[in-house]
Amino acid sequence: QQSSPGQTEFYQAVEEVLEVLSPVLDTDPRYRSEGVVERLLEPERQILFRVAWVDDKGAVQVNKGYRVQFNSALGPYKGGLRFHPSVNSGIIKFLGFEQIFKNALTGLPLGGAKGGSDFNPKGRTQGEVMRFCQAFMTALYRHIGATMDVPAGDIGVGHREIGYLYGQYRRLSGRFEGVLTGKSTDWGGSLGRKEATGYGCVYFAENMLAEKGETLEGKRCLVSGAGNVALYTMEKLVELGAKPITCSDSTGTLIHRSGLDVPLLKNIKERNRDRLASYLDDHRDAFFVRAEDYDDGRLPVWLEKADLAFPCATQNELLGPDAEALLANGIRCVSEGANMPCSRDAISLFLRAGISYGPGKAANAGGVAVSQLEMQQNAAMARWPAEQVDRTLRSIMSGIHRDASETAMEFGAPGNLVLGANIAGFRRVADAMIDQGVF
Ligand code: NDP
Repeated sequence: QQSSPGQTEFYQAVEEVLEVLSPVLDTDPRYRSEGVVERLLEPERQILFRVAWVDDKGAVQVNKGYRVQFNSALGPYKGGLRFHPSVNSGIIKFLGFEQIFKNALTGLPLGGAKGGSDFNPKGRTQGEVMRFCQAFMTALYRHIGATMDVPAGDIGVGHREIGYLYGQYRRLSGRFEGVLTGKSTDWGGSLGRKEATGYGCVYFAENMLAEKGETLEGKRCLVSGAGNVALYTMEKLVELGAKPITCSDSTGTLIHRSGLDVPLLKNIKERNRDRLASYLDDHRDAFFVRAEDYDDGRLPVWLEKADLAFPCATQNELLGPDAEALLANGIRCVSEGANMPCSRDAISLFLRAGISYGPGKAANAGGVAVSQLEMQQNAAMARWPAEQVDRTLRSIMSGIHRDASETAMEFGAPGNLVLGANIAGFRRVADAMIDQGVF
């Protein structure tokens, strides 16, 4: 921590992994003698760059750009780009580190990376977002490639941003290739990619519930966030007979106890890019708590009574006291759509209470898995039908759950998917690093 100060989220992610690794390190002496853990903790390459662009008023704006290429033992670097004012190198490093294990768990040939910028797309015009994306890609394009590093979206980077980033890559390189995923399905994107993280997170919950002989049917669900992951988590929940009753964004929390109207929410957030509170215009029995009215800053989502919880907004949005409130209200399963949304004390409370808890690196791996299916389609110049993508996603999510669950059993901690997912991911990467020699 002394050599890289101020990277709180990165240390939090590392501690979660290291805490459960000691039993697996004893299973093969080479994990220690070949310095696998020490090498894993240091990114293979970190690219930091200036992004200078001109806003609508003609003023020059300067942002920071990041790409952390963490580990490529299993395949080309893969991981999203986040555009949010909170982005710093500690956040990008935590996300890149998590991505190594998540990608390994999919069983697909994928290395781990993450990138982004402290640029805030909110309140910016279409032209400003385009010019920012063009400037960002002008700096990044020489470091990425279809078999080298393939970024995707994350917070603040959706279809629109991927389009501008891809256009600039093509303009600079002269190549139409699968260098980004999450592209529009009109020009190289995969059907089902937009939905994949949310759908996958629900499939993962379905697997956790099945282990206890339960189904999603009739379950009341708490969802946080109202972006890409949250919307498609809610959509799949409704399709499988469950009832999402909350969602949130940075302006506040929406609660509709008789069940959220997901098509309306998609219209508000995806098509109109409108305020979450405008939902009340159509549903008078719902209510909205503004962020400035939160009690002690606590997200009201976790105070509702429900069966299942799906944190789908951002890191550290569900803390110890929230976990206590959820457990007191009878929560039975938590499936993480976001990356590291639960703090370490919240996770300990869930594990101690013996409820099903699916860590993000397992539960939200559906997005990157379908990104890899997009890479396969691009490489083959092919296009898969939506049903084939969804079927493959569902089977990958079952595979990840089985892998994490069986590994937890093997190491004497049945039901502990934190331990199972971390060890299963670690083994796959560590073995590849050993095979490929020390560098
Ligand atoms: P979006 O930008 O589409 O949505 C993010 C949502 O969370 C928005 O509703 C946003 O509100 C809210 N939010 C974000 N940051 C904050 C904050 N600091 N405080 C309050 N609300 C916040 O992003 P995604 O849905 O793509 O990503 C959500 C999470 O899922 C992230 O943790 C991401 O890393 C993870 N993830 C995403 C994948 C993907 O395929 N997209 C894949 C795997 C994980 P507002 O719009 O008001 O800012």
